[in-house]
Amino acid sequence: MIRLGNGILLEMDGRRFRFDPRRTVAGDLNMISHAHSDHIPSSFRTLGVLCSDVTRDLVKVRRGKETERVDDPRVRCLDAGHIPGSNMFLVSGDRPVLYTGDFCTRKKAHVGPAEPVKCGSLIIEATYGRPRYVFPDHEEVLGAARDWLEDLVAHGTSAVLFAYPLGKSQELSIAFRDLPLRLHPSIAENNRVLGRHGYGLGTEELDERGEEGPVVYITSGMGKDRERVERMRRAGAKTAAFSGWALDRSFSYSSSLDEGFPLSDHCGYDELMRFVEKCSPDIVYTTHGFDKAFAASVRKELGVDARPLVAKQGTMDQFC
Ligand SMILES: [Zn+2]
Ligand SMILES: [Zn+2]
Repeated sequence: MIRLGNGILLEMDGRRFRFDPRRTVAGDLNMISHAHSDHIPSSFRTLGVLCSDVTRDLVKVRRGKETERVDDPRVRCLDAGHIPGSNMFLVSGDRPVLYTGDFCTRKKAHVGPAEPVKCGSLIIEATYGRPRYVFPDHEEVLGAARDWLEDLVAHGTSAVLFAYPLGKSQELSIAFRDLPLRLHPSIAENNRVLGRHGYGLGTEELDERGEEGPVVYITSGMGKDRERVERMRRAGAKTAAFSGWALDRSFSYSSSLDEGFPLSDHCGYDELMRFVEKCSPDIVYTTHGFDKAFAASVRKELGVDARPLVAKQGTMDQFC
């Protein structure tokens, strides 16, 4: 039995498995796929959770909770290729169940890629589950962004790059490490945590008054940073966002950006479909984003039983 409610609950062979619960439940096996805030618990009835060491450290920073490592011989953790520390979970049994969490099968410098595995039931995210979302190669997108940035810096102009603080920001930190990079404090903190796990990432923060010459500033642009970004913009800085939604023509225009680069930490439609095909499940449950549409496409294109778990995602994350 698989159903929604406090994360996703799987009941199998008398055991309750919880994927990405909002509150951990004592007696259940609580699993956290990755450290994005919509996937980590906001309250803990038990501190015993199954997740990667990277996720454990990030949960500590984000929730102030020191979780304890729990293992279960029935569960295998697989690389999800979404952000540092992200996992998919494969629960063994007569009909193995794979939960992807957020995942990505494209090759990147800092994570993954996720690999398909044979399973009976597949619980898959469908953030970009419509055919119009087909992403270019990461190298290609980063190459175009580099051309844009090098040109600006050569002309003495600063750039503000909007990116999610966990995932995209690390990819940009690596890709543009030779440029005068400056980071929002929350990104610098994530990079310091990841540094303890072997990621060689810069941690230099922006010194708004002390900078001499152009900088490339990475920020989510949210909260208090909006004012800072406005000041930079008025002083001549150009802006760009890195998001899968940049494939939508209206993206840069509606966000009043100078550039939008379609860099995503998720699978595009074609990659989702290929992944389902290679897992060859009997049944597919979709969550997130275009869950209904993607389930319908799986039924139509692959002839596999598919239905949405009817996840209610409050707001769509524009930096997904
Ligand atoms: Zn995520
Ligand atoms: Zn998510």
